[in-house]
Amino acid sequence: MSDKSLWDSCLRFFEDSLPPQQFNSWIKPLAFEIKGNQITLTAPNSFTLKLVQERFLPEISKRAESFLSGSPHFELRIGKKSSAQPAPKPYIAEADTSQPTQPVPKTQKSQNKLNPLLTFENFVTGKANQLAHAAAIQVAESPGITYNPLFIYGGVGLGKTHLIQSIGNHIKRENPHAKICYVHATNYISDVVRAFQTKKFDEFKQFYNSLDLLLIDDIQFIADKPGTQQEFFYTLNSLIDGHKQVVITCDTFPKEISGMTPRLTSRFSWGLTVAIEPPGLEMRVAILLQKAALSNNPISEDVAFFIAKHVRSNIRELEGALKRIDAYSRFHKRAISIELAKEALKDLLASQNKQVSIENIQKTVADFYRIKVADLLSKKRTRIIARPRQIAMCLARELTQLSLPEIGAAFGGRDHTTVMYACKTIESLRNLESSLNADFNLLNQTLRN
Ligand code: ADP
Ligand code: MG
Repeated sequence: MSDKSLWDSCLRFFEDSLPPQQFNSWIKPLAFEIKGNQITLTAPNSFTLKLVQERFLPEISKRAESFLSGSPHFELRIGKKSSAQPAPKPYIAEADTSQPTQPVPKTQKSQNKLNPLLTFENFVTGKANQLAHAAAIQVAESPGITYNPLFIYGGVGLGKTHLIQSIGNHIKRENPHAKICYVHATNYISDVVRAFQTKKFDEFKQFYNSLDLLLIDDIQFIADKPGTQQEFFYTLNSLIDGHKQVVITCDTFPKEISGMTPRLTSRFSWGLTVAIEPPGLEMRVAILLQKAALSNNPISEDVAFFIAKHVRSNIRELEGALKRIDAYSRFHKRAISIELAKEALKDLLASQNKQVSIENIQKTVADFYRIKVADLLSKKRTRIIARPRQIAMCLARELTQLSLPEIGAAFGGRDHTTVMYACKTIESLRNLESSLNADFNLLNQTLRN
């Protein structure tokens, strides 16, 4: 029996037995792989992983037993579904992995250079990125001295590449003779493989060890590649020992990268680890205004607010929306207005309106904190109920178009001032408690998918 039919049968079962919201949040994002009796399930984050392990694995295991000749052996890991991966894959699999070979994407070469357009000057800062930005400036001004390595992590499209490139461009300007290398992790892997194949290891080592500045982007791609990890470990140590600056970006916190040797993840944390978070509304507006001003087709603040309210996921998508509006306005020879923005983003807005319902938010938050939806709507005020309720209200405020009184009504007939208070409380707690902030971001992301 093929792995596809086993997984298809699991999918069908869960789709029939779970509410759609749960199926979409917890089962659909899983990647499934089977080799002999070894089944690998990959979940997008540790929370989903834990939930799958506790709630769904017994059923999957039961089904697998009837498909396989012996008992299944499960491996659960955190990672991305390959189809959803934004960055290119390496084109040669390492000898120590069983990944299928992939053709080299044509764009990969250009990713290996410093892009002069990505500078600190056009990097908009706000609460979501100010720490990362400050650290990047420090490192750019005194490389090798302050934080080494500087490790910047955050979700897709939030500005990691922009920031790391800005460091490179700044140092290059100050010191044109500095030996700088910006490399995407997939290209670093290719370099390692090529060095193995052509037996030019000394050359490879010499190149990387002689750098003044190494910028390595999307390090998560070297997960499950022990050979590359070992090389990178040596390079990292050699550069840091020589007081040469290393800056690393990643899509998750170092300890959360699965398939990475602990000696490397612990080395990552020796310098400074900073997060870039999804931008809040005001920052999204500021970014739109800046980008529009640079494009010679400026937009008013009203229009910027309109776009920012609807495009919330990341900065790359904000740019995409703005480009669409710009093109639409030029094509129809009409000035940019909210009306025009609505027309240009029609498809995007339609798909969004369908997505996040308040019931969906309540169910997801309740699942996450292992409480009942009924508790969220009840009068109970214990902390374990009240906090998730506030989070759910705050998410409803961010993700739906409902008014404060409407949200209050949906939470067991509460007053709009309660919703307002909940939003304020969560906002300030997010600044104080990193775990609450992480929960909030995770829920926010899960609901938007
Ligand atoms: P990541 O590497 O985190 O996926 P990028 O650095 O590629 O994200 O950013 C996506 C796009 O958004 C790029 O075009 C980048 O220039 C832009 N961008 C990201 N952050 C900012 C910011 N703070 N100010 C201005 N532009 C930004
Ligand atoms: Mg990037």
